[in-house]
Amino acid sequence: MKPHLIILGAPGSGKGTQAAKLVEKGFKHISTGDLLRSEIAKGSELGQKVSGIISRGDLVDDNTVMALLKANCDVDKVSYIFDGFPRNIAQAEMLEAELLQKKKTLAVYFKIDLGVLINRVVNRRTCGSCGEIYNLTTKPPRVADVCDRCGSVGTIKQRKDDTQEVVANRLKIFADTVEPMLAFYRSKGALVEIDASMQEKVVFSELGKVIN
Ligand code: AMP
Repeated sequence: MKPHLIILGAPGSGKGTQAAKLVEKGFKHISTGDLLRSEIAKGSELGQKVSGIISRGDLVDDNTVMALLKANCDVDKVSYIFDGFPRNIAQAEMLEAELLQKKKTLAVYFKIDLGVLINRVVNRRTCGSCGEIYNLTTKPPRVADVCDRCGSVGTIKQRKDDTQEVVANRLKIFADTVEPMLAFYRSKGALVEIDASMQEKVVFSELGKVIN
């Protein structure tokens, strides 16, 4: 069976885009950001608790996100792509101890110069209906306001936390937390690095090599 994949990378490094494509290869994509946004959309107690934290670009507390992740995956049956989890070393250790003991796990680091990411992220747009990700400068929808993938009209929106100021905070948090996680997976011989500044299809083909 395929290993679980953990994608580590800054906001805008292409984790979500590549994870969605990897579903074609039989993986299941799980994004803690998506799970949290769906709780906010439902107006659940958890959604109300995390909404302010997410709109500032801060991290939700480790136990809350871990509990949400556990409630939404079945790691023994499916090979997952973890997108957005872990976000710090405490989460990496929890994931290992509480979920991923039985099956092989590989961490893939989407390496990219953080300086280019603010522009990428502020230009990012997502279809609220099917989740397709666009970029206004490099990958706009073929017809303005119409999703290429699902055809919905008027559903392509900017995430509230993709504004310049909030992205700057998210990038800073990423820069402050990434190294111990890389060291953690490197010490287990379970870390692969991919140059995420390459074109989307090249990154995807590199990922294919990693999986095989
Ligand atoms: P993402 O969609 O991965 O960019 O996540 C969006 C926001 O959700 C983050 O800026 C955090 O506020 C929150 N979030 C997502 N995943 C985690 C996590 N593993 N730990 C803490 N907060 C998270």
